[in-house]
Amino acid sequence: MSRLLVIGCGGVASVAIQKCCQNSEVFTDLCIASRTVSKCDALREKLAGKTTTNLTTAQVDAMDVPALTALIRAYQPDAVLNVALPYQDLAIMDACLSAGAHYIDTANYEAEDTDDPVWRAVYKKRCKELGFSAYFDYSWQWAYEEKFKKAGLTALLGSGFDPGVTSVFTAYARKHYFDEIHTIDILDCNGGDHGYPFATNFNPEINLREVSAPGSYWENGKWVEIPPMSIKREYEFPQVGKKDMYLLHHEEIESLAKNIPGVRRIRFFMTFGQSYLTHMKCLENVGMLSTTPVEYQGQQIVPIQFLKTLLPDPASLGPRTVGKTNIGCIFSGVKDGEKKTIYLYNVCDHQACYREVGSQAISYTTGVPAMIGAMLVANGRWQKPGVFNVEEFDPDPFMDALNRWGLPWTVEEHPETVE
Ligand code: NDP
Repeated sequence: MSRLLVIGCGGVASVAIQKCCQNSEVFTDLCIASRTVSKCDALREKLAGKTTTNLTTAQVDAMDVPALTALIRAYQPDAVLNVALPYQDLAIMDACLSAGAHYIDTANYEAEDTDDPVWRAVYKKRCKELGFSAYFDYSWQWAYEEKFKKAGLTALLGSGFDPGVTSVFTAYARKHYFDEIHTIDILDCNGGDHGYPFATNFNPEINLREVSAPGSYWENGKWVEIPPMSIKREYEFPQVGKKDMYLLHHEEIESLAKNIPGVRRIRFFMTFGQSYLTHMKCLENVGMLSTTPVEYQGQQIVPIQFLKTLLPDPASLGPRTVGKTNIGCIFSGVKDGEKKTIYLYNVCDHQACYREVGSQAISYTTGVPAMIGAMLVANGRWQKPGVFNVEEFDPDPFMDALNRWGLPWTVEEHPETVE
């Protein structure tokens, strides 16, 4: 019996909202608020008659903190689920604090304007101190700890799949399978085929920035940074088959390194086909991935934002994508003095997701855990004043909910490991 305000109405939001509406016992009232209200209205219409959740919509620019605060005060939700873009994280957290609502998101803060000198100075200091150069990191949101604590509110960070489920898998492995986890390899495999020569599975701007950045991993208490795509491995993924995968920097490495005592190495690998990599390299070489505005015929345009207008909308990939994703973690460590390795993963079928909610599996695998995180905060099971990553809570109710709400998982003992 709770009220949820959802910010954003893109690919991930659409799935999260539909799953909330399947779960009307918990989500009795839900307001979809985004920049383009017509998208919110279209989704509400699509759901009319199919749910008992009372749906309303609102227009809001989440960067406008006073306007968002006024909306939260007027709607009085128990929690706000941020499935807009990482650029809005801090503004939405500020509004939640002003208006008194819990906060949930799926991606850590990233600055929209990376040329801003104030942001750059902080960024450069962090690169030097921590040793990784990604534009996103948790320091901005972790800095809200005292404010959320004082306000008696919960901020739950990173409740998507990765980060999100992969971090809950880690907490679950630690609770039930290990005395100490020594290594974590997070493997993100998309075996889907959408038939386009080049498209991204979620917001192109966020996706391409992540993939074209240097890779990094955590080892023996520090970050090791490597040139983009310079560590490649091959892995035989259950139910998908053999794929090439590349080591990337990924945000959950940062929080797991802090929250999992005794961990010695954490790596993240994602699969890419050769066509994707060739297109991306070419776009990067000609400057199309740049976030610095250029002048074109008297107008300022940001190359990567212009590229986004040319690429297929990730939400349109659903009907065309066939195949499966397999995302999970291989853990090694010790239990009762014995060495042990397990592989915890979920397999998700693109077409099955499309039949259920009209989206491909990438939006589905993010939207379902976003709903689950919002549910556990709203129903009080994961409520604690302060700012938390998902691995800091009891994983069991989340793991049960994954099985119930469409992302069943498997534990494999003695799996193939990654060199
Ligand atoms: P989309 O681009 O499809 O959707 C973003 C939505 O946010 C759009 O509806 C957009 O509105 C809205 N929005 C953007 N700016 C504002 C603003 N200032 N105020 C209000 N609304 C705004 O993105 P996705 O659905 O693909 O991704 C959503 C989030 O999920 C991202 O943060 C992404 O990083 C994260 N993600 C997390 C994953 C995980 O596993 N943890 C995996 C995949 C994604 P408009 O329609 O007007 O543009």
